[in-house]
Amino acid sequence: MTDQLDTSEARPASAGGSQHLQTIDPATEAPGRAYDEHSIDEAHAAAAAARQAFLDWRRTSFAERSGVIHRAAAILRERKDELARLMTDEMGKTLDDGRAEIEKCAFNCDWFADHAAAYLAREPRDIGGTEAFVTFNPLGVVLAVMPWNFPFWQVFRFAAPALMAGNGALLKHASNVPGSALAIEQVLHDAGVPRDLFRTLLLPSSDVEALIRDENVAAVTLTGSVAAGRSVATAAGSVLKKCVLELGGSDAYVVLEDADIEAAGKVAAAARMVNGGQSCIAGKRFIVVRPVLEQFESALVAAMRPYEMGDPRREGTRLGPMQSVKARDEIHRQVSDSVRQGARLLLGGKVPDRPGAWYPATVLTNVLPGQPAHDEEVFGPVAAIIAAEDEQDAIRIANASEFGLGSGVLTGDLARGRRIAAEELEAGLSFVNENVRSDSRMPFGGVKHSGYGRECSEFGIREFTNIKSVHVKALEHAAGTAIE
Ligand code: NAP
Repeated sequence: MTDQLDTSEARPASAGGSQHLQTIDPATEAPGRAYDEHSIDEAHAAAAAARQAFLDWRRTSFAERSGVIHRAAAILRERKDELARLMTDEMGKTLDDGRAEIEKCAFNCDWFADHAAAYLAREPRDIGGTEAFVTFNPLGVVLAVMPWNFPFWQVFRFAAPALMAGNGALLKHASNVPGSALAIEQVLHDAGVPRDLFRTLLLPSSDVEALIRDENVAAVTLTGSVAAGRSVATAAGSVLKKCVLELGGSDAYVVLEDADIEAAGKVAAAARMVNGGQSCIAGKRFIVVRPVLEQFESALVAAMRPYEMGDPRREGTRLGPMQSVKARDEIHRQVSDSVRQGARLLLGGKVPDRPGAWYPATVLTNVLPGQPAHDEEVFGPVAAIIAAEDEQDAIRIANASEFGLGSGVLTGDLARGRRIAAEELEAGLSFVNENVRSDSRMPFGGVKHSGYGRECSEFGIREFTNIKSVHVKALEHAAGTAIE
């Protein structure tokens, strides 16, 4: 086991090599490191090797796997600073957020190392007259297609439970975070995950379909956009392979007249500004009943204003650059088009005149159907305020979205909040008076175009298992039955 992180050793760009991944520092637009891509033939060979490694790994005990995944947690903590710097270099995350992300990955590894055996323990069932139980056996090699916004968390959220369940994995990460992708592989190998069992493949997204079709790949999980989800689900469907999709979101927070509006503004700003607004579960639409609309507008502006843009490498910076200039330009298009169509800008909304993917904390009000800020996922620091007549109208607006990932209610009445969160909002997660977060101990996932399947908790670890019914009877007592 080594403590060294050197992704350049793993896959440096060769002079004259055919396909390179070139990283760009989003804060400055300066080019970073270049990495050679794998060929599709190398990817198929890795899938075959992973399948072989899986056949051994699935026979290891929970205790053995637990030791390895606990070691991964320890290595993550040891390398926290350098891994955080890597994320800053590749996608602009603030160092503070990067360190917190690595801590969260380590907690997740420890959690599944400690709880996988219980989550996947055989479950006896009393069906009368015969022994019956349920087992949770691993499926095989799972292809993980992952996004750049939480380069470590998205992968570890999948990988720790998948490996603990006895599966192998191939990682195809987003093209702008190749160093992070290789560093994840290094952490797992240094922890004792067999080299062939977990492999990072630097591939273009156009190669994903061929890998899904590979006979050595049993299943696929994708975290990313709706468009990518559609492609992956289509490819998986064509070969009838299991697929989990964690897609986009346009999380709605319903703000009711009985809420402490100043506190509601603070929760809303925290929800919106997670990871510079580049989070699937960031609060994106704030649906406010009219009696408190103006008060909430002021409260949200006051709470968003302190998120000043700054150097992501400096301690205490609250808003770094967006992941790329292209992504920033798309955010600005969505804001500009919304304003042209009647939205009112209360804060931000102007692209600063300097290199880098900068975009300020922005608040729009009078956001209406037809405007991008209303209808689309805005993946940046832009809060949209939408007026509603009353509670019922607010719930209607919240649910009138193609997405259904996270959601929230801000209210002074916990019984009211509990009812709306539990029964009314069409989303995979609903939080009362808090911003939505993922947690290893609670199921995570969406409905509608936000995807299907779950990560985290016992629900997540069971996604890539064969939930098998086993019936056992002594032969002398057996009598066949023709009923299915
Ligand atoms: P993206 O463009 O869909 O990329 C995500 C991953 O999918 C990348 O590895 C990408 O590879 C790959 N990919 C893209 N198009 C593909 C295709 N047609 N077939 C197969 N693979 C494909 O998404 P993004 O812009 O990086 O991430 C932001 C999106 O992810 C947002 O919509 C966000 O809400 C969503 N997200 C969801 C969750 C969740 O848990 N629900 C969490 C985080 C983010 P390349 O980089 O090589 O194109």
